[in-house]
Amino acid sequence: MTRAVLRYVSHRITAHPDSDPAVSARCLHGDCPWEVHARSSAKAVDVECMQHTGLTGHGIFARTYEDVAVVVRNE
Ligand SMILES: [Zn+2]
Repeated sequence: MTRAVLRYVSHRITAHPDSDPAVSARCLHGDCPWEVHARSSAKAVDVECMQHTGLTGHGIFARTYEDVAVVVRNE
């Protein structure tokens, strides 16, 4: 029989302090290929979505938020 000793260590996860979330968006209207690749400013992506709506009338978008996370051991 093999025995194992398991130790549980408490951790926490937070956004990395030196990173900004990256945001991207793509239009969900029909087969519209319009998309914005990751930018560090959600506001800039929102403006581009609104410009796309103004030009095409397409008003539904999928937005993706990506950040860098860091896990640290609780002391
Ligand atoms: Zn579109």
